[in-house]
This record gives sequence, C-alpha cells and structure tokens, in this order.
Amino acid sequence: MPSSSPSPRPTISIVAPVYNEEAILPELYRRVAETMDALGESWELVLVNDGSYDRSLEIMHELHEQDPRVRIVSFSRNFGHQIAITAGMDYAQGDAVIIIDADLQDPPSVIAELVKKWREGYEVVYAVRKERKGESKFKLWTASLFYRLIDKITGVNIPRDTGDFRLLDRKAVNALRRMREHHRFMRGMSVWVGFKQTGVEYVREERYAGETKYPLRKMIRFALDGITSFSYFPLQLATYMGFFIAGLSVVAILITIGLRLSGSRAFYGQASTLVTVLFLGGIQLISLGIIGEYLGRIYDEVKHRPLYIVDEAVGFEHMGDADERSEAA
Ligand code: UDP
Ligand code: MG
Repeated sequence: MPSSSPSPRPTISIVAPVYNEEAILPELYRRVAETMDALGESWELVLVNDGSYDRSLEIMHELHEQDPRVRIVSFSRNFGHQIAITAGMDYAQGDAVIIIDADLQDPPSVIAELVKKWREGYEVVYAVRKERKGESKFKLWTASLFYRLIDKITGVNIPRDTGDFRLLDRKAVNALRRMREHHRFMRGMSVWVGFKQTGVEYVREERYAGETKYPLRKMIRFALDGITSFSYFPLQLATYMGFFIAGLSVVAILITIGLRLSGSRAFYGQASTLVTVLFLGGIQLISLGIIGEYLGRIYDEVKHRPLYIVDEAVGFEHMGDADERSEAA
C-alpha cells in the first residue's frame, strides 16, 4: 500500500530486530500496517537488519520501495538481538517507540492496547505473556527459574513473564539512549529508568515461520548479562562461601584435636584430604570464573567501542548525521 510522502516525525515508531527472517517480513509489514492504519496514528516501521545472510535485507528494500514508512537500519554483521533493539531506538523518531519481535510471536494487534495505555498517560507499557504457545517445556521451565532468580538477587523489579515487547514514551527512550552499556538487558534497563509503568496481558503466539535464533548457548549468555548487569550477588557468593567454609573448618579442627587427644585415628588417610582439597579447589575455580564474568564485561566497557556498526540506513535521509545518532551518550 504505497502512501504519500511520509511525515518526517511519525507519532509512533515500531522497531523490529531482524535476523534471517525472510519468510516473515512481508507478513510482519502487512500486520503492522493493518493495525497502525486502523489506529489512525502516523507511524514508521524501523527494521533493524542484524547481519542476516538470507534474503531479509532484499525484502526490506522491497518493502521500503512499496511504502516509505518502512525504514531500514542494516548492521555490518550480527551484533545480537539487544543491540539491534538499541539501534532501532537510536533511529526511531516517534513520540512513542514500540519494540516487537519480527517473528510475530508478539502479535501486532496488541499494539492498539499498548497505545491506549500510553494515551492514558503511562510512559512504559510492557506486554505480559499470560500464555505462551509453541514453546518447549524446557524453555518455559528455564525461563521461569531465571526470572525467579533475577527477582531474588537484583534490585530492579522486572515484571514476570515480560519480554522486550513494550511501548516506550520518548522520555523513556531518551533515558535509555543515554545508557550505552555493551552487555544489555533491555527488559531490566527499561524498568530501571523509572517513569510511570504498567502492563497489558497478551497471548504469545507461535513463531510465524522459521526457527528460533536463540539457541541454548545464546540464552545462557543473555541470562548472565541480565544477572551481571543488575546484581553483585554472584561476586558476594565467594565471601559467603568463604565464611561458611572457614567456620566449618574451625569446627573440624576442634573435632580433630578432640579425637587426637582421645587417641582416635578417625581422620587419618588420604581420602578425606583429597575430597576436601578437590572441593575447595572447585569452589575457588568457580569463584574465579565469576570474577572473570564481571572482569570481561568491565573490559568490554572500558574499550569504549561503538555498540554497533551501521552498513546502511535507508529512509532516514531527513535526520542528519547517522554517526551522531549512535553516539547518543
Ligand atoms: N534476533 C536478532 N539477532 C539475533 C537473534 C535474534 O535480531 O542475533 C531477532 C529475531 O530475528 C527476532 C527476535 O530477535 O525478531 C527474537 O528472536 P527469536 O524469535 O529467535 O527468539 P525467541 O522468540 O525464540 O526467544
Ligand atoms: Mg521468537
């Protein structure tokens, strides 16, 4: 549906990160356009190509030709889902920005409800999954475990069962754009910025086509990013464990002395020594590893690299210099 020349500043920007979603893009555009046109707000769809190696970028160009409200930010390589969302927010011009997965697991029809809450005055409206279709038992179980853990050990109250599907007012977007950390956990960061927040329930659909771009390895990385960016608890674990084991060893020393004095030979032999040394060795290595997780992230931050490299941006010609935009901080 070709439209007349798009207004430079739309009211609402829809941002979708795209990594090899050729089978989905036309349907995504169709469903977004249907919802947004029915809403009667001016809008743009910012597609962030996160280094796809299928026909995604080509299809994005076709969609842009067809409807200039579709705009493209294309990375020089794959930088990851959370970074792609960040770039989308850097380029989005709307008074409100809606983050949505490209795979249609977040149904565009829910956008109407997000916008309604925004019009009521809320500045962050997150979508809460009241049901998740077509996800494996394993994913549901690990996700619930993870959110319970992060709830316990972090200071931010990330609402249960929310993903990145949410609406952010310009105020919240500008606040988020000042947070240039490399290991990003957007669903936590968007709570951290504050403002008036509320949720809207929805049913998370099955993926429209293709398969998940989040294999277990990436899920674990993502979980670690979430925990390390909002909590020191893992670092403190070594201290707690140290006190506990030191306390235990004092008891063991007293018992050993007592047994010696009473002439018992109960603690003689290699096995007990070996087990203790291995146990402590394990704990020390784990503690070192935990420090390493934080240290690596600190290293990534001090290098001060840009969060992403843009290969091309299409449809933002009216916006001035792209470099300035990504250097938001
Ligand atoms: N995605 C991305 N870069 C990546 C991995 C994923 O931009 O490195 C996009 C993907 O195209 C999709 C969204 O992020 O639009 C969520 O990914 P996916 O649906 O695979 O995750 P799941 O829903 O299975 O957790
Ligand atoms: Mg998905």
